Amino acid sequence: MRKLIALAFLGLLLYGAYELFLFKPSVEGHESLAALPRKKEVTLRVRNPDRAQKLRVVLLQDGKEFVLFEGKPAEEVKVKVEPKKLGLKEGKAEAVIELTRLFVLKDRVSVESVVDYTPPRVTLLFYPYAVINGGSGAVKVSVSEPSRLELRVVDRVFPFYALNERVFFSLFAVPLELDELSVKVVAVDGVGNASVLSVPVKLKKRRYPVYYIDLKKRKQKLLVKLSTLLGEEVTEENFLEAFKKVNEEMRRENEAFLSELGRRSEPRLYWKGRFLQMRNSKVISVFGEKRVYTYGGKYVSESYHWGYDLASVKNAPVEAANDGKVVFTGFLGIYGNTVVLDHGYGLTSVYAHLSDFKVKKGDEVKKGQIIGFTDETGLAFGDHLHFGVMVHGYPVNPIEWWDGRWIKNAILPALQAKEER
Ligand SMILES: [Zn+2]
Repeated sequence: MRKLIALAFLGLLLYGAYELFLFKPSVEGHESLAALPRKKEVTLRVRNPDRAQKLRVVLLQDGKEFVLFEGKPAEEVKVKVEPKKLGLKEGKAEAVIELTRLFVLKDRVSVESVVDYTPPRVTLLFYPYAVINGGSGAVKVSVSEPSRLELRVVDRVFPFYALNERVFFSLFAVPLELDELSVKVVAVDGVGNASVLSVPVKLKKRRYPVYYIDLKKRKQKLLVKLSTLLGEEVTEENFLEAFKKVNEEMRRENEAFLSELGRRSEPRLYWKGRFLQMRNSKVISVFGEKRVYTYGGKYVSESYHWGYDLASVKNAPVEAANDGKVVFTGFLGIYGNTVVLDHGYGLTSVYAHLSDFKVKKGDEVKKGQIIGFTDETGLAFGDHLHFGVMVHGYPVNPIEWWDGRWIKNAILPALQAKEER
């Protein structure tokens, strides 16, 4: 009998230890109650929720209690927090999370909270009157409190850079094809209050050419090009398949690589004044051109031309279009031997189909400095320079960046900290 009691006692002890320590329920995620905007959803994760009888989440302010959640906990508890609706004032509050276990024990976690309903106030200091599709633009704003800022242009997101603690600017790239332009500044303060400001920029619709290219006429040269690019023999039989692979897959990879370089642009200003267009060159192809490839009248593939093709003499010297830093030199698929310059604050330029480079990654270059020589490496026909400009990794029409007056009117006012309108 005594043995039995001892055994029962031991059992109870073990059970107690098991309940108390091993499978003790607990709550994670309470830190997110420290910042309380007008409206928010908080996800609390409960460990061993079946060991707890009750979860209670309340806000305390001026001796009043506001219940956010009360009930049996699950592994994940989503709590809708609407302090304004509940009647809390802006200022300090306390969030208390209480977990009842073993029917009587109450574990409490308390978090000091800041209640703030005021969204950041954004003031537009500069924006362009109009932009073209495929073109660039700049926006300058001031913000009433420290906030996360971004510029949304249609479905694209562009970062803002600080000119001082209150004034920020952003360069943006307008898609080539769009029905309606929308430019919005989104600001989110430290607590999570957001404000969205529409920027009234007009769209000046620009038409870009479409060319139909018959691959049959270029087959002999293409067989050699495609074999080189793919590193495997391309014959009459797999010609179209190989062309699609290069024009679609390889192009996509190469463009993604360039975009990534563009997104990593440094937050500093390298460039000054207008960008240089290649000396004594003839434009043989423009930015935004749509190329539709056919074979014997049948559609094969298509692509967009994200730069200008400029031809001069054979192996002509290629100059840096502006001051910048070399962020890439190397062979890049359809672009052949390529140099990419970072001009800072999201602006980069691309020089493709070169024979050789005169610079290396990490070099800082000056406007007009020779960085390489033209050729027809990659998917190019005839010796020329492919010149491209990107804003935050999106290709834009270089024609604007070659135009000193456009830069002066559309970009420079955004780069100056002075708060003029
Ligand atoms: Zn080109």
